[in-house]
Amino acid sequence: MSEKTKRFFLPESEIPTQWYNIQADMVTKPQPMLHPATKQPLKAEDLFPIFAEELCRQELNQTDPWIDIPEEVRDKYKFYRSTPLVRAYGLEEALGTPAHIYFKNESVSPVGSHKLNSALAQAYYCHKQGITNVTTETGAGQWGAALAYAAKVFGLEAAVYQVKISYEQKPYRRSIMQTYGAQVTPSPSMSTRAGKDVLTRDPNNQGSLGTAISEAIELAVNTPNCKYVLGSVLNHVALHQTVIGLEAEKQMEMAGEYPDTVIACFGGGSNFGGVAFPFMRHKIKDGKQTRFIAAEPASCPKLTKGVFQYDFGDLSGLTPLLPMYTLGHNFMPANIHAGGLRYHGAGMIISQLLKDGYMEAVDIQQSESFKAGLLFAKSEGIIPAPESCHAIAATINEALKCKEAGEQKVILFNLSGHGLIDMTAYDQYLSGSLQDFELDAEEVKRSLAEIKNL
Ligand SMILES: *Cc1c(COP(=O)(O)O)cnc(C)c1O
Repeated sequence: MSEKTKRFFLPESEIPTQWYNIQADMVTKPQPMLHPATKQPLKAEDLFPIFAEELCRQELNQTDPWIDIPEEVRDKYKFYRSTPLVRAYGLEEALGTPAHIYFKNESVSPVGSHKLNSALAQAYYCHKQGITNVTTETGAGQWGAALAYAAKVFGLEAAVYQVKISYEQKPYRRSIMQTYGAQVTPSPSMSTRAGKDVLTRDPNNQGSLGTAISEAIELAVNTPNCKYVLGSVLNHVALHQTVIGLEAEKQMEMAGEYPDTVIACFGGGSNFGGVAFPFMRHKIKDGKQTRFIAAEPASCPKLTKGVFQYDFGDLSGLTPLLPMYTLGHNFMPANIHAGGLRYHGAGMIISQLLKDGYMEAVDIQQSESFKAGLLFAKSEGIIPAPESCHAIAATINEALKCKEAGEQKVILFNLSGHGLIDMTAYDQYLSGSLQDFELDAEEVKRSLAEIKNL
C-alpha cells in the first residue's frame, strides 16, 4: 500500500472557473416565485428593486448549466481556496467503522464558514452595477461576517441586522463584522416598521431570521442605491456555493473514490446545495445511485415535518411567495445555538428535489449534535460550528450503520464552518446545562394553518 494521504488540495489553477446551475438539468423545474398580490410569476426585472440585476438573472436562470465565475471573484477566492478535502481517519478510527469518511473543510475561509463563497460574488455584482450600500440579516453572525468582509473587499458600505439572541450570545461575531467596517443592529429593532411591529406585540422578542430579513428588506427598499443581499435560501446563493462540490469532485478523484453518500447540515440549503448539486448532476443525468442527506435541527424541521407549498420568505410577508417546504413563516424556532439553521423554510430548488425523491432529510436533536461535535473535535482536531455538528451527527449515524452491516461505503460531508466563536454553546454542553427542545406540534399546526390559503 502506498502512503496514506490525509488532505487533498487543488492548485489555484484548478479552482473552478464556472458555477454549476442545477436548475438547467432538473427534470421538474422549481415552480415560479409569485407576486404576493397578483399571484403572477415573477420575472427577473420584478426583483431588480431589491437585488443586483445579475443576481436576479441568475436566480431565474433555468437554461444555462454553467455560469462563468468573474475573474475578480475568482481572484478573491484564491485568498482561501481551494479548501482541503480531508479523509477523516481519526473519526473513522474513533467509530471503528469500515466506512471511508471525507469532509470538505470550508471552515478555513477568513471568516470561518462557507458563506464567503456567495458573499464575494454578491458584493462583486452589486459593485459592478454601481451600488454603494448593501444590507442584510444574520443569525449566528456567520453571514454577516462574510458580507462585512466581502463589502470591504469591493468598497461597499454594509448594514447588518443581527438576530438579537445571537447578538447577545455571540458578541465576538458582532466585533468581527465591526472590524471589517460594517454597521450592526440587533433585530428586532425600533429602526424599521417591521421591527417596531414585533416589539410592540412582544417587547422581549429574541428575534428570528424571518424578522431580521423583513428589517433589512425594508431598509433596502427605502434607501437610495442600496440593495439587499441574502446568505441562503435563494437559488443564486446555492449556485455560488457549488464551488464547494465542484472542487470536491476533483479532489475525490485524486483520492480515487466517489461518494456513496453526501451529507450537509441544512438551514436554507446553500451549503447543502453547494456540496451536493455537482454530484447530483450525475444522479440526474447518468443515473448514479448516490444518496444525499440534509441534516436539520429537530426544533426547526421544515424538510421532515413541514409541508410543500407557497409561503413568504420572511415574517412580515414582504418577499415574493416561494414554493418551498416550510413550517409557516410565523413559526418561531426554539433558541438553539445553531443560529444558522433557525429558518422556517427551504430553498426552492431543494424543495423540488426533495419532493421528487432525489434527496432525503434527517432531523437531529441539539444535544446529539454537540455530542457528535465533541467526538469530531477530539478525533480530527477541528472544533466544528454548531450548525456543522448536525452534519457530523448524521455522518456518524451513517458510518455506524456501515459498521453494523460491515459495509465500506464512502461518505462525504461538508464541514460548513468552525466553532471557535461558539464556545458559549460548548461551555453549556460541557457543563450539562444545554437543553433539547421538544417541537410543539400544536404550534406547527397553527403556523401551517395560517399559510394554507397563500
Ligand atoms: C449559515 C450557516 C449554515 C446554514 O446555512 P445553509 O444556507 O443551509 O448552508 C450552516 N453552517 C454554517 C457554518 C453557517 O454559517
